[in-house]
Amino acid sequence: MNNNQIIAKIFNEIADALEFLGDNPFKIRAYRTAANVIEGLVEDISVYIQRNEKIYGIGEDLREKIIEFLRTGKIKKHEELLSKIPKGIFEIMNIPYVGPKTAKLLYEHFGVDSIEKLKNILETGALLKIKGFGLKKIENIKKGLELYQKLSQRFPIGEVYNDIINFKNYLSSIDGIEKIEIAGSFRRFKETIGDVDILILSKRDVSDDILKHPRIKEILAKGETKISFLYGLSNNKLIQIDIRVIDEKSWGSALMYFTGSKEHNIQMRDLAIEKGYKLNEYGLFKDEMYIAGKSEEEVFDKLLIQYIPPEIREARGEIELAKQFKIPKLIDFNDIKGDLQVHSRYSDGVMDFWEIEAEALKMNYEYVAITDHSKSLKVAGGMDIEDLLKRNEEIKKFNRNSKVKLLISAEVEILNDGSLDYPDEILKNLDLVLASIHNVKKDEDITQRYLKAMDNPYVDIIAHPTGRLVLSREPYKLNLDELFKKASERKIILEINAHYNRLDLNDLNILKAKQYGVKFSIGTDAHNRNGFYMMIFGVKMARKGLLTKEDVINSLSLIELLEYIKFCREYRIKQFASSNK
Ligand SMILES: [Zn+2]
Repeated sequence: MNNNQIIAKIFNEIADALEFLGDNPFKIRAYRTAANVIEGLVEDISVYIQRNEKIYGIGEDLREKIIEFLRTGKIKKHEELLSKIPKGIFEIMNIPYVGPKTAKLLYEHFGVDSIEKLKNILETGALLKIKGFGLKKIENIKKGLELYQKLSQRFPIGEVYNDIINFKNYLSSIDGIEKIEIAGSFRRFKETIGDVDILILSKRDVSDDILKHPRIKEILAKGETKISFLYGLSNNKLIQIDIRVIDEKSWGSALMYFTGSKEHNIQMRDLAIEKGYKLNEYGLFKDEMYIAGKSEEEVFDKLLIQYIPPEIREARGEIELAKQFKIPKLIDFNDIKGDLQVHSRYSDGVMDFWEIEAEALKMNYEYVAITDHSKSLKVAGGMDIEDLLKRNEEIKKFNRNSKVKLLISAEVEILNDGSLDYPDEILKNLDLVLASIHNVKKDEDITQRYLKAMDNPYVDIIAHPTGRLVLSREPYKLNLDELFKKASERKIILEINAHYNRLDLNDLNILKAKQYGVKFSIGTDAHNRNGFYMMIFGVKMARKGLLTKEDVINSLSLIELLEYIKFCREYRIKQFASSNK
């Protein structure tokens, strides 16, 4: 959150608290108005304060509080109120249809100070006995609670990706809409997403057409330049979508502004100032004169810097790189020649080889690695050696007449002592060995397990290295620097697992690993036909990690890939031999 958002939130919380305590309505309204004004400011509030500029809607008293915040990072009045009111009450006041007055009644009569208690009291029917609670109101609270629970969450981006793309396709079918772009964290491909910003360019008012969509559950705002609503996702949850209508002249600058990140935008704005311009969502200006803004490219050009791809606009030094024209050509989906983690019926997948080939052809691939689980992973149908050998023969037979080459591979468990789940005689006959850890004891540090496993010369790839699951499981305890260092020394490839629940390695870890000189593979971990499309998520993560096609082995042709794997294995075997002399 930037200053404007934080201060607006604080002011709203103060207003909620005052209302809960039954304070003066004018005072309460002053806080709410100010919060609204601040949220709508184009520039950071500190800029107005520095320029000593009057802000319409904010009086002296609240201006003092803003200055206090900018100086100390908090507001004393806010802290005081927070200490007076149970924390859960603020959450309850935020539920649609509840608000401070109802929250107060609920607290006074039933001691409701948490969502849990509210749920319980709604079930008992006791509310009806209280003045001010009719059937209608209770229904509304229930509805509000449902909305709140569906909304107060972020999603793994991949979980909502197709829904959003489908909605974008719906927009493009509406007559009169000339341009559509999904901005915000979606365009930057942040691994989680809270809401969606869509920009449109349209010659006529299309709001009614947009709002006809059957998945729109609740309209929050409908104005000339902005439409907001709650949209029903395939996972039965709701996400807020804001659609903004943009002028042609401002299309590029608005797209930059709403793509963010906030920190990146602040740095871009500073760069513009440095060069004698002013940059905001309406365009690039010199002394109030419009200079550029129709397209993003135009704005970057005028600022004399390289175009910055949206995925890397995270204020991680990309503007410096752009100034020196040193942003590399990032890997693109079209560079990908195959998928390097797919599971078949031989373990816990549901596809036979023909189905895998059919999907691979749709993706224009040359090859797919069949990476069924090894014997110890019983829960995932791990193959014993007999099954594995039988499967390998089947793959060989299949490859004789196939358009897509299936690589004889396996996702082999790294056991507790760091040894591999198959003996070397078996591993050496696989085209590609993925090694991974699925079972970790509580608080176990798995660094040594990895390091030991990486001494095996047949380990080509470490799959989903950190084991994290987006929003649901923390990464394993692990010294990543040691992993990256050893991977680089041993020419062991690290996977970018493209499954939306994993995205592992993630962008930050990719950036770090690349500094060690590590190479990467991308695998979707597909277990069924719907899994293949997730390659795009892996590519997006790779782009966020500043990878080029040279960093990613899936961009090699089949022959190049097999040669590269062979080269790395021989390198490791030699290394092993010399260290044992
Ligand atoms: Zn796995």
